[in-house]
Amino acid sequence: MGAGIVVVGAGHCAGQLVARLRAEGYGDAITMVGAEAHPPYQRPPLSKNYLSGEVGVERVLLRPASFYEENDIELRLATRVREIDADGSRVILDDGQSLAYEQLVLATGATVRRLAVPGANLPGIGYLREISDSDAIRAAFSEGARLVVVGGGYIGLEVASVAAGRGVAVTVVETESRLMSRVASPEVSAWYLERHREAGVDVRTGVSVSGFEGDAKVSRVRCADGSAFDADFVVVGIGIGANDALAAAAGLETDNGVVVDEYGATSRAGVWAAGDCTSHPSRLYGRRVRLESVHNAMSQAKVVAANICGKETPYDEAPWFWSDQYDAKLQIVGLAEEGDERVVRGDPGAGAFTVFRLRDGALVAAETVNGMRDHIACRKLVGAGARPSREALADASVPLATLAA
Ligand code: ADP
Repeated sequence: MGAGIVVVGAGHCAGQLVARLRAEGYGDAITMVGAEAHPPYQRPPLSKNYLSGEVGVERVLLRPASFYEENDIELRLATRVREIDADGSRVILDDGQSLAYEQLVLATGATVRRLAVPGANLPGIGYLREISDSDAIRAAFSEGARLVVVGGGYIGLEVASVAAGRGVAVTVVETESRLMSRVASPEVSAWYLERHREAGVDVRTGVSVSGFEGDAKVSRVRCADGSAFDADFVVVGIGIGANDALAAAAGLETDNGVVVDEYGATSRAGVWAAGDCTSHPSRLYGRRVRLESVHNAMSQAKVVAANICGKETPYDEAPWFWSDQYDAKLQIVGLAEEGDERVVRGDPGAGAFTVFRLRDGALVAAETVNGMRDHIACRKLVGAGARPSREALADASVPLATLAA
């Protein structure tokens, strides 16, 4: 048996990748190296039903730990790769050991962006990316405790919704003038603002945090507009950045992520990358994109596994994302831009609607609140580059499935 495959990372993407390699019939050694102590797990529940305590660790694991043993996949957990020696086809671990490979896959994921303001290192200020982070936030939930959430994006708002459900007094501070502005249209932002306010969350938009105060731990959050909020704990959710430093240090091309082609190949032969850490060419949008999504992680993992096994499969899917807040489900397919035209189907006041985003007549994205069937139909339409009429999109009596091409 040869040196086989080394996978750097043991997250959702890596877990899917190694399983797909075996499913594709890959018979050589597979070693997965992950910094965290857990075998691959799903991250979305960490800000949803795992945070609320509805499901435990065993339910978030991608596969039971026994799967890796049964499939002869070596897990090196709580271990970091310090360096990639691409010329020597080996990786060097933090304890100095090295692992030889024939092919290397980078599934290094992403790291939370940190707030760089005075007091940012005070205890009681948390971020959410790993199981232990979610555990720490849940431990701070108690009736009447005061939580300030910094960032009104997916993570911040999901944490706010779970916390509000636990009787926590929540304030959300968001720099932009509306919630989820990176991903959602003004109609969707407004609808979610209402839901949060109904739940008693104090949402402040257009406000930036300028510093934290406290002695032994954080007790006050100061904002640039002069406002200030008392806090027993703080959760910061201001986005993530690709973990591409290892790749860059090894001389691989990076550009807001590890640069890969449509097959998941990096600029270095024998080295592949998949998931949150990558920047890949999107046929649909005619540019490189870096996606933060489970769908992308799973699909790229599948494509790279197939390509390692000689299948020559390009990656070409419309990206999709979802968020659970209160009882509402937001599902987004595609990537919209600020100037895209907006067409609404359904009545936001009735609790279920879709905002379509059109660019030069093509449906480039759709944001659906509480409408699984419409979302599924939109995935097909966006993926196919459909050019439906505005009138048909706005008319809920016209089935979306009839609007293809
Ligand atoms: P995440 O996945 O962490 O939720 P998003 O990009 O979806 O990331 O949302 C992050 C949100 O945080 C954005 O709406 C952004 O405007 C907001 N944000 C970024 N920096 C700050 C800041 N310093 N204070 C408050 N909000 C911020």
